[in-house]
Amino acid sequence: MARIWNFSAGPAALPQPVLEQVRDELLDWHGAGMGVMEMSHRGKEFTGIVQQAEADLRALLGVPESYRVLFLQGGATQQFAQIPMNLLTGGSADYLVTGSWSKKALKEAQRVVAGTASVRCAGSTEADGFVGLPDPQALAFDPRAAYFHLCTNETIHGVEVPPDYPLPSAVPVVADMSSHILSRPVDVSRYGLIYAGAQKNIGPSGVTLVIVREDLLGRAGPTTPSVMDFSVMAENGSMLNTPPTFAIYVAGLVFQWLRAQGGLPAIERANAEKAALLYACIDGSGGFYRNPVAPACRSRMNVPFTLADSGLDAAFLSETKAAGLASLKGHKSFGGMRASIYNAMPLAGVRVLVDFMNDFARRHG
Ligand SMILES: *Cc1c(COP(=O)(O)O)cnc(C)c1O
Repeated sequence: MARIWNFSAGPAALPQPVLEQVRDELLDWHGAGMGVMEMSHRGKEFTGIVQQAEADLRALLGVPESYRVLFLQGGATQQFAQIPMNLLTGGSADYLVTGSWSKKALKEAQRVVAGTASVRCAGSTEADGFVGLPDPQALAFDPRAAYFHLCTNETIHGVEVPPDYPLPSAVPVVADMSSHILSRPVDVSRYGLIYAGAQKNIGPSGVTLVIVREDLLGRAGPTTPSVMDFSVMAENGSMLNTPPTFAIYVAGLVFQWLRAQGGLPAIERANAEKAALLYACIDGSGGFYRNPVAPACRSRMNVPFTLADSGLDAAFLSETKAAGLASLKGHKSFGGMRASIYNAMPLAGVRVLVDFMNDFARRHG
């Protein structure tokens, strides 16, 4: 079996030991005589799995007692609608637009609350091509807003909000952390709500994580469907209906793997080293490769880059593929290349990529 180095933005590579454990337990989970896919979500086996997953996640992120952890479906895209349905039943909310995903979140919120509440853009970097973050002093945020929304890692543009970026303290902060959650420690108490689709850095697609402060529950409008209502889901332990059981189980194994690596401080050190190596290759290429993002907010997880001569793109992609380096084609809205180097990508994989890139530049530069 030959596994490739998979730089996919999502669904993305999973840690190999997790996949091996899933394989070993597929037909018979811990002597149950059945696999996790085949178990009742209300049985004692699965109840244990989901409780362990939540406990491990809480330990990793240091989630305070006053927050609920929900395992939902529908992806981060569903949260673009579900968040305003739950938190914006009048008044207005502020959105920061720093890339494609936060722009989509704003548009969807506008659609959901049309005519009943307003959604404001509190700052945008679109005019500059999404290559940085707004000066926090220049943000036009409203202290009476229902919440302030941002995307802390823009997966397509490769813009990551650094931990010291000032956030409004007067209103709940809602953050889309889909593509960098669990890549570094985070102070959960700065946020009212954190959400993330699983398929970047948590596990398989199908489960969506929501971590919400308890005082934000119970604010949904009366016509909100039960499955979309955070407080109904919280009261029912995310099991009003059948949850994505297999995805939760695999996510739980990823949480255990992360704890065994030394938790988030250790994985952050590894991620910082991987990202530094790749950006140094790009910046040291004499302009052969280029990443336009301001260094202070370059993403450690998603590294988009272009070749000075886009006529070489096809050769770059076919040669990387032949070298066992997969899924490097950039998003259509950015062009060029993108290397996603999530937790599951080892330093060794980034080394292979960087060696390839240096060699390719030498041969074609
Ligand atoms: C991938 C992604 C999404 C969309 O996730 P889905 O699970 O496909 O809905 C939203 N936000 C960010 C930051 C993402 O990376």
